[in-house]
Amino acid sequence: MTDVRVRFAPSPTGSLHVGSARTALYNFLYARHVGGAMVLRIEDTDLKRSKSAHDTSIINDLAWLGLRADEGPDVGGPHGPYRQSERAHLYEAAVQQLLATGWAYPCFCPQELLEERKEQQLAAARMPKYDRTCCGLSPTEVDGRFAAGEEAAIRFRVPDGDVTFADIIHGPITFSSDVIGDFIIKRTDGGYSYNFAVVVDDAGMEITDVIRGEDHITNTARQMMLFAALGKPAPRYGHHSLILAPDGSKLSKRHGATSIGDFRSLGYLSAAMVNYLALLSWHPSDEREKFDLEELVQEFELGRVSKSPAIFDIHKLNWLNGLYLRELEPATLYAAIEPYLRARGINLALVQREVVAEAVQANLVVLGDAPQYAAVFVDEVDPATCAHAESLLEPGADMLYQLAREIFGNMANEFLPVPEARDTLKRLVELAKEQGLKGKAVYHPLRVALSGREEGPELFYLVAGLGKSRILARLKAAAEFVDRRTGPEPKALV
Ligand code: GLU
Repeated sequence: MTDVRVRFAPSPTGSLHVGSARTALYNFLYARHVGGAMVLRIEDTDLKRSKSAHDTSIINDLAWLGLRADEGPDVGGPHGPYRQSERAHLYEAAVQQLLATGWAYPCFCPQELLEERKEQQLAAARMPKYDRTCCGLSPTEVDGRFAAGEEAAIRFRVPDGDVTFADIIHGPITFSSDVIGDFIIKRTDGGYSYNFAVVVDDAGMEITDVIRGEDHITNTARQMMLFAALGKPAPRYGHHSLILAPDGSKLSKRHGATSIGDFRSLGYLSAAMVNYLALLSWHPSDEREKFDLEELVQEFELGRVSKSPAIFDIHKLNWLNGLYLRELEPATLYAAIEPYLRARGINLALVQREVVAEAVQANLVVLGDAPQYAAVFVDEVDPATCAHAESLLEPGADMLYQLAREIFGNMANEFLPVPEARDTLKRLVELAKEQGLKGKAVYHPLRVALSGREEGPELFYLVAGLGKSRILARLKAAAEFVDRRTGPEPKALV
């Protein structure tokens, strides 16, 4: 164990975005790798936009990914509460501390006046910055204005000089406080600012390392100043790059799925998702690309996280998902595809389930593809309306259907296990060959007769998964179709 403590601090204003999920993952891997702890903190101070349904869905999405925090609103812990909306007393105590030590002061400047000054500064080509009108007010004046019912925000008095920190991913970063005006830590409406609440929380929760997106780099200078003013040590910071769409723009809905919930409902496996998110900016020390969560914990190092933007590549995610899908045992795969099958009205008999799962496994990119491949096991096949009916008419096909009907007609049970189905099919192929049919003239018409399609699961899966009655019905329909199409032309009536 080490004293490393990280936090994942989502704002519950929507479902968990892949970008946030990756932040959670990097925090989790970093902490687990060194034997530290991860805290989940819900940053719900924006009460208008935060919804408690979202924090439940974020917690569920994290659990689905296998990223369980050691402390958080759901599991508790010694540094709670873990929702910012329940921590106002702690923020207020810190405001009072900063007021008492002279690091903060009440600001009575009304909003309109602030706007006006900002415009004047911009017009004079100066950087807009609070002009410290209220910084030098005497205690008596402050008391007088409060007594007169004036409202005040509380501002932090930004110290002079540079702020430098050694970013774990970017290296040293320096900000000059010249560009940072005295910022508000408590608003006139009584709410606390993001930068302030985060610092009080990171300090109170004894966070040692903050790993977050680089959109927060500019906040870091303000946060470090606040740590110093509160007399607390600042954590180490590491800012990872953001995820961009292939066209270089911000990843958004118009590029397709963006939330973990979206990917889960399309049928991506959590293991593939985690593996993919890890690889977005982290480069393993060898050529491997497939890592389960445990392996990631072993291998992950922030030093190997790149500064360059991470491009979201759905093809790579699909490829990884395929790798994980192919590894599933038939029973597990069936359980995973069942909701998708049911949603499309495909209800399989108990004996069919694992065979069908095995049959479709090779074709799946996502679980949601299962119905399109499994439908063949339950849908009606009508040669008359089948798009590939011409394939039923290959020379010798009528003899093939006859042979097949005899052989499958002798099946001892309605459903054969896959190895027996394979043997039965082999016997049919041998007999057909003895009758002079070539391999292709067997497989192709047989596939169309049994499935109405030219592609799909291996034939022995069709034999095992369809069951005797369906096989015989489909062969009969194919044979009748051939008869109708190749039989003598009806005689013209004279
Ligand atoms: N709540 C912030 C967000 O969702 C994260 C704050 C932080 O990591 O410091 O972006």
